[in-house]
Parts: sequence; structure tokens; C-alpha cells
Amino acid sequence: MQGELDFSFTEEHDLFRKSVREFCEKKLAPHAAGIDENAQIPPGVIKDMGGFGLLGITISEKYGGSGSDITTAAIAAEEIARADISMATAVYYLVEAGWGYLFEKYGTEQAKREILPGVTKGDSFLGIASTEAQGGSDIASTSTMMEKKNGKLILNGTKTYISGVREAAKYGGGYVTIVKTDPGLGHKGLTFCYLPVKDQPGVTVDTLKQMGREGMSNGIINIRNAQIPDHYLIGEWNKGFYYAMEGFNCARTLVAAACIGAAERALELVSRQ
Ligand SMILES: Cc1cc2nc3c(=O)[nH]c(=O)nc-3n(C[C@H](O)[C@H](O)[C@H](O)COP(=O)(O)OP(=O)(O)OC[C@H]3O[C@@H](n4cnc5c(N)ncnc54)[C@H](O)[C@@H]3O)c2cc1C
Repeated sequence: MQGELDFSFTEEHDLFRKSVREFCEKKLAPHAAGIDENAQIPPGVIKDMGGFGLLGITISEKYGGSGSDITTAAIAAEEIARADISMATAVYYLVEAGWGYLFEKYGTEQAKREILPGVTKGDSFLGIASTEAQGGSDIASTSTMMEKKNGKLILNGTKTYISGVREAAKYGGGYVTIVKTDPGLGHKGLTFCYLPVKDQPGVTVDTLKQMGREGMSNGIINIRNAQIPDHYLIGEWNKGFYYAMEGFNCARTLVAAACIGAAERALELVSRQ
């Protein structure tokens, strides 16, 4: 029928799903209960995922990724959550896939060479720091400030409910971060940058107690006069709102795919009883 959308997968997608499912059944599912009980994804599991090409899956091969399209990334999200229904590993995977894509599209060449290969190998974590106490959905009310001084970017503020703070502080990594650069301009006064967490002067983290998804932390990033190099600017000054909408489209699609995978597995387990 004219105008009908084709939702079928290609043969390549089906083969990819089969191979990711096999990988997850072998390397991830046996750790699922332990991930929740020990409140940690074993570093070996992360490294294995990097070796299989799952971490930063949307990032180009040039930076160590697989350069996958969003459909392929969503298939992997579904399969990872199917193997670890706690969603810890799925969230670790999907924030890197969603925001790694944005970083590569708008980040500087110097920052991409510096940061992305570590992410795709599983040596460091890349997350999203958008939410603040005053508003999650309403990013226009972001109050974390960034200004340029003597060739550096200076940040001040607090981000909350941020996934992966413990992992980033322990193993290394940082966040694609939304900041206010022009308070008078509302949503048109937002900018994106990369904020490192581990060993970054002016940045500390606190973890929040969670219910569920114990294997991946969630918490607060405290930012006090943190100075970052200007090549950590992502995209154009005051264009952050538009990048955020683009990133959320990608990340939310992957969240939905992961929820489907976890739900499918939960139904399978129940129907076996
Ligand atoms: C498990 C988990 C992990 C998270 N990880 C991250 C992370 O890594 N990084 C990060 O930045 N954030 C993270 N968050 C935060 C998440 O992005 C926010 O919770 C989300 O954006 C919603 O914001 P909020 O909680 O402030 O709710 P609010 O924005 O206050 O919304 C509360 C309710 O009001 C409704 N609402 C809001 N605005 C409107 C409107 N204009 N009109 C009508 N209804 C409206 C919402 O739909 C919702 O039902 C995480 C949250 C969870 C639960």
C-alpha cells in the first residue's frame, strides 16, 4: 500500500541480533543476578562488550566504534536488556550509544580522538548530564553556568539523577553536559560541552540510593569552578537545546528498545513456571 511504513528488519539486522543474543547469553546473562546483588557490572563484562563492538556502537570505526545505525543500536539495546533485566548493563550501553553519536557529530576532532577510543574499548564511561533539581524535562531552566575565560571554559552548578557517576569517577570518563551560557535567552542560551569527572579539579560526585538497577550508579555531580579546555565545547555556542532534542530522540528510542527486551525476558521467565 502506498505510504505504508516498512518495519521489517533486514537480513543483516537478523544476523546481528542472533550474534548479539549469543554473545549476551554467554558473556552477560550468567552475571545478571550478581550485577544486581553486588551493585556493579564486572569490569570484565564491560571489556567483553567493548571487544564485541557494542560500546559506543554508533561511533565510527575511526574512533574504535562500529559505526552502526540506530536500528542496529536498538536491536543491541533490546538484546542486552533481555540478558540483564535489571537494566544496569542496558543503560550503561545506551547512554554511550546515544550520546556518543552526538559527541561524534558535533564534538571537536581533538576531543573525539582523546575521548572516544577509551569509551569504545570499555576503559572509560561516557554519560549525559542534563537533569538538575529544578527540572528534568524542562531543560530550558538549566542553571549550571559556563563561561569562557582566558581560553578556558569555566563551569559552576549541580547536576542530579545522573547515571554512571560512580563508574565515571572510578574508572574514568565524563559527561556530555548541558549548561547555560546566556541566561537572558531561555532555551536559546544553552550550550553543550564534555565534562570529565575523574581527577577533574572542581568536580566531585555523590551517589544516590536507588530502588532497582543497582548495578549502575545514579547520583549528583557537584561542579565548582571546574576549568576545562575549550576544545571540550560540543557544537556551537547557544545551540545546545537543539542538540539536546536530537540526542534525546536517539537515547529515548534506545531506552524504549531496552525496556522491550527486559519485558520480553520477564514474560519468558514467567511463562516457564
Ligand atoms: C533511572 C534513571 C536514570 C536517569 N539517568 C539520567 C542521566 O544519566 N542523565 C540525566 O541528565 N538525567 C537522568 N535521569 C533524569 C531524567 O532525565 C529525568 O527524571 C526526566 O528528564 C524527568 O525529569 P524530572 O524527574 O525532573 O520530572 P519532571 O520534569 O518534573 O516531570 C514530572 C512529571 O511532569 C510531567 N511534565 C513535565 N513537564 C511537563 C509539561 N510541560 N507539560 C505537561 N507535563 C509535564 C512529566 O511528564 C512527568 O510526568 C534519570 C532518571 C531515571 C529515573
